[in-house]
Order: sequence, then structure tokens, then C-alpha cells
Amino acid sequence: MKGQKNGQMSAKESVAVTMRTLRLLCHIYPGAIISRIAQIIWNALTPYVGIWFSARIISELAGERNPAELRNLVLLALFSAAVISLIGGLLGRWSDAENSRTWFADNYLFVDKNLRMDFVQLDNPETQNLLSVIQANRNSGGWGIQRLMWSLDNLVSSVFSTLGGVALVISFFTSRVPERAGSWRVLDNPVFLVLLVAAMIGIPCLSSALGNKVGKYYASSAANHRLSNNLFSWFSFKGHDRTAAGDMRMYRIDKLCMKYSTDKTGLFDSQGYFAKLARGKVGLLNIMSNVVIRMFMMLVYLYVCLKAWTGAFGVGEITQYIGALSNITSSMGNFLRIWGDIRNNAPFLKQMFEYLDLPNDMYQGSLTTEKRTDGDYEVEFRNVSFRYPGADAYALRNISLKFRVGEHLAVVGCNGSGKTTFIKLLCRLYDPTEGEILLNGIDIRKYDYQQYMAIFSVVFQDFKLFPYTIAQNVAAAGQYDIERVKDCLQKAGFGERLAEMKEGADTYLTRQRNDNGVDISGGEAQKIAIARALYKDAPFVLLDEPTAALDPLAEAEVYARFHSIVGGRTAVYISHRLSSCRFCDKILVFSEGRIVQQGAHDGLLQEENGVYAKLWNAQAQYYAE
Ligand code: ADP
Repeated sequence: MKGQKNGQMSAKESVAVTMRTLRLLCHIYPGAIISRIAQIIWNALTPYVGIWFSARIISELAGERNPAELRNLVLLALFSAAVISLIGGLLGRWSDAENSRTWFADNYLFVDKNLRMDFVQLDNPETQNLLSVIQANRNSGGWGIQRLMWSLDNLVSSVFSTLGGVALVISFFTSRVPERAGSWRVLDNPVFLVLLVAAMIGIPCLSSALGNKVGKYYASSAANHRLSNNLFSWFSFKGHDRTAAGDMRMYRIDKLCMKYSTDKTGLFDSQGYFAKLARGKVGLLNIMSNVVIRMFMMLVYLYVCLKAWTGAFGVGEITQYIGALSNITSSMGNFLRIWGDIRNNAPFLKQMFEYLDLPNDMYQGSLTTEKRTDGDYEVEFRNVSFRYPGADAYALRNISLKFRVGEHLAVVGCNGSGKTTFIKLLCRLYDPTEGEILLNGIDIRKYDYQQYMAIFSVVFQDFKLFPYTIAQNVAAAGQYDIERVKDCLQKAGFGERLAEMKEGADTYLTRQRNDNGVDISGGEAQKIAIARALYKDAPFVLLDEPTAALDPLAEAEVYARFHSIVGGRTAVYISHRLSSCRFCDKILVFSEGRIVQQGAHDGLLQEENGVYAKLWNAQAQYYAE
């Protein structure tokens, strides 16, 4: 691509993506940007006040030494330093407070996108991969928003530092070497000034260009950096993870870590990639970049001192001019360096927008599902087939069935027969590849998605609870009806355990957020998840293996109370344990993505060669006397 080398983007593209990110940041955290800029301007300009006072004091000491004048200068210098640091402190606190939220806001950009993204897109391994690359780049090198914030800081600081410096240095260019200095008057020759200004712009640029080459090396090694960071975080943090502690001990996984910690050729180790770069090209470029700038500053010192020595200005001004010139010089260098940073960072910002711009292709209907008081809903699958994106085989094939509100439906079948996929289609996490699903005779795509989701309570196989209180987990909200929370927990079989808890439903799950938090077993978690589904009070309850983690007694208890748990709601109940399906009105038997049998338990058992009878007999033999 034109203007694009080694994955770097063209200048125009880099500016466009950087401006887009800045607009986004101004939108999500304007306070952070404003406070940061105010603090940086203050910090860039105020050093000149100290430089100016120092110059005046030295001039006075080297000249008339008037005690009253000296006292006034010193008092003013101290007073201004105090005011500067006080205001600087206040600005710093304001900026810290505003910026402490930016980490959360940056993360929320992605969380919000994930929540709004079509599930099919979110579930796509490529999407997940893109997100993990973005996050790993951010964590390993600050690439993306964080780098842009650093560049913004540098830019504002350099602009104001240059402006302040120019204001203090103008008199340097206008002061003349007196006639008595004889041939030294050559120092006033405009050639010197032109050379000085040219060098002040050119040399820092050269130094920064070398520095930017270093930045480019780091940007181009982001993939290596990421990999190494992953290894590092895995071994550093997994070692402390108590859920992995058993396996770590049993199989001495730490020995595997040793392999990496003793390997000197690892990315960050003494024989690794970065060490080699530092000893080789990158190190050399860094040295050259510093040497060039130092040598130039030596010449500046020489020129300023010579002009002072020949009488163009007093000794006090030396401090002022050297300070201002060196600040301007380093700001000049910064401009090019910032430009380099922006160019290096642009591909990472582009990648971030690739994610944030992922389109939602699922059709969004607008029909209301009207939460009917009569609860009269009818669902129909009409010749539905489904293939996961990127998969060759169909996960579901020609599914046709109808069920009415209040029906209790069991779904059984071997692993991989399509049971969970059936639930996912019903909740419209995916749309059918062929055929249609109807709610009260209307294609579910035509309903408002949020409203459609609201009519389902689901306990997924891999449900998640969160480190909040039990009540907050059940209600999925901060405000809730505590009596209803307790009632749902009771119905889900968590009543006895709840009664043992000192803080009842206000008990926190895990100690992540509260010292008195409790750890619960898989079975107890499953009961809380069932209670959460009941609290939602939706007309459809979908339970995917709801008793998989329960012990046989708890399981029997859930079955016994199944009707009181789901009440008059429509329930779809996936289970591996066929004994649990006996009390359902209808059993659907899935095999290789198709419904191969349906009916009540006794009838299905009659079909001796049917899948149901085979599954039943396979399980029953272990329970036979
Ligand atoms: P069950 O719930 O009966 O165990 P699933 O509905 O989970 O079966 O899976 C049905 C088929 O779809 C299986 O072949 C499975 O490998 C495949 N499958 C499930 N989830 C995905 C996915 N996210 N991407 C691709 N294939 C999948």
C-alpha cells in the first residue's frame, strides 16, 4: 500500500485515526483530558519563572549587589515558587482524580461493545482473537489509547515549553556585542544566528529521527512482546491461583516454569531479543541520538558564554538563555519524536477501531412482545437448520416442533447432538441458517431484541455468578425485593444453606470484594443460578443441565419440586439423566442435530430400538438391583 511500510500506516491515515481516537476520548472522559492539559501547560511554563528569577538574582550579585533589591528578588522568587507548587499540586490532584477513571472508561469501551455485539460475532474465534491481541498489546507496551495520551501530554508540554522559551530568549538574539570587544563582534554576524536556529531545529530532529527508529523496533516486535508477556503473566499469576493449586502441586508445574526462567534466550532475558537489540542496533541508535544532542548543547553553551564574556549581556542572563535554549531544543526534538510515536501507535489504534466498528448484522425488529398477563405464548420451530459460522457440518437439521405456554419439555440426547444449540436459537443468540422460529405466529426476528430476550430465563450449562451478594446475584440488580429473593432461593433448594449464613442473602460470594465472603460448591452455585432464573419471572424457563453439579439427593429434591419451581411457566429442560425427564409432558430426543423421537416417557420406552430406549437402558443398568 502507498506510504505504508512494514505494517506502518500512511501519514494521513495515522493522523485520521489519531484524531478519531482523540474525539472519542474527549467524548468519554472530557474532564480527564482538560485537567491533564491544564496541568501540563502549568508544568511546562512555570520552570521559566524560576529561570527568570535566578537570572535576575545572579545579575544583581554580579552587578550592583543592592541588598534591598536582592531581598525583594529572593522573596518574590520564593513566593512565586510557593504559589506555583501550590497551584501545581491542586492541578495534579484534579488531574489524578479525573484520570483515575480513565482505565475503567477505556475498558468499558470494550465491555459496552461486547454487550451490544451480535452474539454470533462475539462467539466468533476471530473476534475473540482480535480482542485478546488488542488487550495484550495494551498490557505489554501501552499501545493504543495509553500511548496516545502520552503523546498528547508530550505535545502540549512541548508547544508551551517552546512558547515560554521563545519569550525568554528573544533578548538573546537582540543583544549586541559592544564595540570595545573588537573582532569578537563577529559573534553578532547573522550567520551565527541562522546557524544556531537551523541547528536548534535540525539537530534535535536528527536525534529524534534516530530515537524514532528505536520506537519502530519496539512497535514491530509487539507480537514477540505480547507472547512473552503472556508467558510471564501466566507463570507469575497462575502460580498464585488457588483453583490451579491442586494440579500445580500434583504435577509440579513449577518445573515447567523453571524451564522458562532458566532459559537465557527468552524475550526479556540476557540473551534474548530485546537484550540483543539493546546491545546492537537499538543501543547504538540510542547512544547516537544522545551524543548528537549533547554535542550541540556544548556548542550552545560555548556561544552563549562567549557572548556574555564579550559583554553582550550580563552573567545572570547566561542562566536564562541556556535554560530557555535547552528547553526549546528538547521541545523541538520532542515534536518529531511525538510524530514518530503517533505513526508507530496508529496501527494499534486502527486495530482497536476494527474491533469497535464490527458491524451488527442481525436483523433488529421493532415489534413488542407485550408481556401478556394470560402468558399465552406459542413457540414454533419451522423446519429450522443451523450451522455455526465457519463450520461445515450442520449442528441442527430440519427441526420442526411447536410448544405452548405451560408445557414442560425435556430435551435429551448424546453429547454434541444439538441440545444446547437448540436453546441458543430459541433465545436468538443465533439466527437459523434455514427455516424460521415463530413466537405467536410471527418470526422472532421481527420482535425488538431486548423485549424478546426478556421473556426467557435461562440457566446455561456454563452459567456464571459474580462476586456480589447472594441477593444481588439472584436479582441481578442492586435494588431488589428481599422476600422474593429468599422465596426463589428456597424454591431452588438453597433455603437451608441460606439459613446457616450469618448475613443471609447479604452474604458475599467469594472474598474478592468482602472479607466475610463465602466460597460455595458447584451444586450450591447451580441452585443460586436457578434462583436467579426464577427471580426474573419470565414466561419461559430454559434449564441446560440444571442438576449436573448437584449430588443425587439435591438432584432428587430439584426433580421433586420441579413443578413448584417452574410453576405455570413453559420450561425446556435439557438433561443427561433420563430419569429426570419422566415428569415432563413431552420429551424430545436429539441425535446428530435432528429430533429423532418425541413423546412421553412411557411411550418412548416402548420403541425398543429407539435412541431413547437405548439411552435409558444404558443408564438404568447401573441402578438395577
Ligand atoms: P449438546 O448440547 O447436545 O452437547 P451442542 O448443541 O453443544 O450439543 O453442539 C452441537 C454441535 O455443534 C456439536 O457438533 C458441536 O461441536 C457444535 N458446536 C457447538 N458450539 C459450537 C460453536 N460455538 N462453534 C462451532 N461448532 C459448535
